[in-house]
Amino acid sequence: MAQPSLNIGMVGHVDHGKTTLVRALSGVWTDTHSEEIKRGISIRLGYADTVFRKCPECPEPQCYTVEKKCTHCGSKTDEIKTVSFVDAPGHETLMATMLSGAAIMDGAMLVIAANETCPQPQTKEHLMALNVIGIKNIVIVQNKIDLVPRERVLESYQEIKDFVKGTVAENAPIIPVSAQQNINIDALIQALDTYIPLPEHKLEKDAQMLIARSFDINHPGFTYEDIKGGVIGGTLTQGSFKEGDDVEIRPGLKITSDGVTRWEPVFTKITEIHAGKSKVKKAVPGGLLALGTQLDPSLTKGDSLTGQVVGVPGTLPPTRDGFLMKLDLLKRVVGVTNESEINEIKTSEPLMLNIGTATTVGVVTSARKDLAEVKLKRPVCVETGAHVAISRRIDSRWRLIGVGVIED
Ligand code: GDP
Ligand code: MG
Repeated sequence: MAQPSLNIGMVGHVDHGKTTLVRALSGVWTDTHSEEIKRGISIRLGYADTVFRKCPECPEPQCYTVEKKCTHCGSKTDEIKTVSFVDAPGHETLMATMLSGAAIMDGAMLVIAANETCPQPQTKEHLMALNVIGIKNIVIVQNKIDLVPRERVLESYQEIKDFVKGTVAENAPIIPVSAQQNINIDALIQALDTYIPLPEHKLEKDAQMLIARSFDINHPGFTYEDIKGGVIGGTLTQGSFKEGDDVEIRPGLKITSDGVTRWEPVFTKITEIHAGKSKVKKAVPGGLLALGTQLDPSLTKGDSLTGQVVGVPGTLPPTRDGFLMKLDLLKRVVGVTNESEINEIKTSEPLMLNIGTATTVGVVTSARKDLAEVKLKRPVCVETGAHVAISRRIDSRWRLIGVGVIED
């Protein structure tokens, strides 16, 4: 399998079929964490790779498949492209994970179940998140059509049309499918291939990767000689990595001495690169990569480096423990049944901020109508001009209230 060329995100309300759809498209069940299996919901970001293929003999859309042999005529199918799916959780309490996933999506499938009225709260909240983060290439998947009569499919289609009017998804195609019964998956692949084009890869720039996951892949009982270094997973936003490259990770490690806390960048070497299902010598932007490093695996355990940035030493954006941002707030809170108006941001209120794959809390130190200065609980490594998804605590949940652009 070639290195994936882009990331396609799965977003939408809990239980509408995102994880089932990833399985229909890739054969991978992304809910593997024991808690996820027990509760039947996705908690962490999941990912899976697949190759979109086309039968040279069959007409469209039947020719689109992920099978090596055409299920209609038996011909050998040709590869179109390899993609990674980023499976975001749909539960309302997991918006921070959804938002950090959205930072690495080149396009997204908004999954909407036909057996429920549209929009459900997180259908709306996730679409708003795509809007805020600037993801424009969207394919709407109307799922579970096997559960309802034809009239309801048509009614649901109209609800979806009305719902997306005036949003980034206004002109997105709506593909009716059954993820569970494998109905119309060929037409969905065709739509994904058409509407989520390859992003522009800035290969000539210094490598920068956003970390989405980090792991300790050692098992209890491994002997000292068997221990493997920490593994980090994420997406290159620019440049390329080679096996053996020296890299810097920022903000890095939290160090407290004499009651003073500071963050220090970490330096390591890339020992191996996995892209798609294969080990590669070199990787470029597109899809999710896993980098083997010489880091102590206790540093990468349990997603502890999620939100940090890896790149060529000395070239990363600054580590900031606060910044000024220009605000663009929504009119109303979305994702709740009772959509109240959004009041202005006030001094000393805490905000949840999602910047790239990082989630942090910023306390407002000064606020004007369209500007706010925040002091961060946990620093971030980010460039001036970057977008910040802003959430506020409303009725004990973080709710997306708008977007900020970092001024300084
Ligand atoms: P997620 O929360 O969006 O990831 O939803 P899941 O993929 O976990 O699916 C939730 C439930 O809906 C599971 O029990 C699935 O088997 C079921 N489901 C998903 N897609 C379909 C479908 O197309 N038809 C039917 N009948 N059930 C589906
Ligand atoms: Mg799921």
